[in-house]
Amino acid sequence: MIWTALVAMQLAAAAPPLMVSDGHKSVRVATVASANGPMLRADALAPMLPIDVHHDSASSYTIEIWGARLRVEAGVAMVKAGDDVYPLAAAPTVDHGRLMLPLQMISEVFPVAVPNTRWDVTSGQLVVFNVGSSAVTMPRAVAQNGGEVARAPRPNYDRPAANDSRLPPVPTKHFRRTIIVDAGHGGVDNGMTGPLNGGPRIYEKDITLAVANRLGAQLSGRGVDVVYTRTADTLIALDDRGRIANRANGNLFISIHVNAANPNWKDPVGARGFETYFLSEARTEDARRVEQMENAAVRFEDSPSKIDRDDPLSFILSDMRQNEHLRESSELADIIQQSLGKMHPGPSRGVKQAGFRVLVTAYMPAVLVEIGFGTNAREAAFISSPAKQDAIAAAIADAAMKYLDRYEQRVNGVRAGSGPAR
Ligand SMILES: [Zn+2]
Repeated sequence: MIWTALVAMQLAAAAPPLMVSDGHKSVRVATVASANGPMLRADALAPMLPIDVHHDSASSYTIEIWGARLRVEAGVAMVKAGDDVYPLAAAPTVDHGRLMLPLQMISEVFPVAVPNTRWDVTSGQLVVFNVGSSAVTMPRAVAQNGGEVARAPRPNYDRPAANDSRLPPVPTKHFRRTIIVDAGHGGVDNGMTGPLNGGPRIYEKDITLAVANRLGAQLSGRGVDVVYTRTADTLIALDDRGRIANRANGNLFISIHVNAANPNWKDPVGARGFETYFLSEARTEDARRVEQMENAAVRFEDSPSKIDRDDPLSFILSDMRQNEHLRESSELADIIQQSLGKMHPGPSRGVKQAGFRVLVTAYMPAVLVEIGFGTNAREAAFISSPAKQDAIAAAIADAAMKYLDRYEQRVNGVRAGSGPAR
């Protein structure tokens, strides 16, 4: 009877459900109204997120999702994620042994503390990025880089229980490595189509997605946290791709694209090769061509943000946050070109600069890789081959690791050098 009364109370107090979607499917998660806003069962998120709720002691719980560890206490309106503390709209509660969380924790804390999640304000739903291919994107073991320890230790789902440490995270000693992998185009935006003179038809959006997924898998295998801007055939606004990157606090942003020859060239069909761009004003006619091609995706977006047609880049170049990454970005682009040169049959077209919108909003070293010309039948076949896609992904992953190693050495060197000098 008590039970019946409780159910009745809960039904009466039902609030609109939380929608969680991953581009493939959406699920509704029931919420219950409380004085401080809607609450929901933490474990009800399990169908969409690899969530693990540990009951640590009487009132404290640890929630693990993709390596992020969120610590909450029943009755205390805050959540700890690593070294960060976030206030909660309502204190977590325990109902029939189930941990209940305020909806606000999902909408406000998850996007900043949990990888691969984004709160879509307009639709009021939690968007999850890499659920569609969990085999590819599930973070792997910790400490693969010479004993390096991630700031937020990632769970190893294969680890024996005896090793399963519930101890507090090890303090930061090294850099946590997060790389944002961006598959160009998607949804209604096919990107380029080719080849020009016959051969199996390709769509850029399919190639970029395949290579991006492989790149992510390669990076995960090297112990890096990977955040994808998309894992399905969906259109993500160019500016949103950068915002996703910033929210994830990435170290690098790598955007994958397929090139297309200008029909006015002397031999458009014959154009081949790979090139890597970093953000700047377009320097050459050819760079402007690629810039216009890749920026054209804006026309597919519902409400493209305003672009100053006269000088679209003036505001970017004056933005110190991005400027400080130009040198790093060009170095990363250079290493990627060298690495691709070891396996790619096409000529290296070099490191180039252009004002890609997709790179503008990513406040971190950011590059855009044109992995080949889809207009050339031979190269279209090359970038369509799963084996070659793996090889391209491995080359880019090698380059990213090399870059990060160099960067961390540089930063550590500066720190080590400044110590004794004082
Ligand atoms: Zn493209």
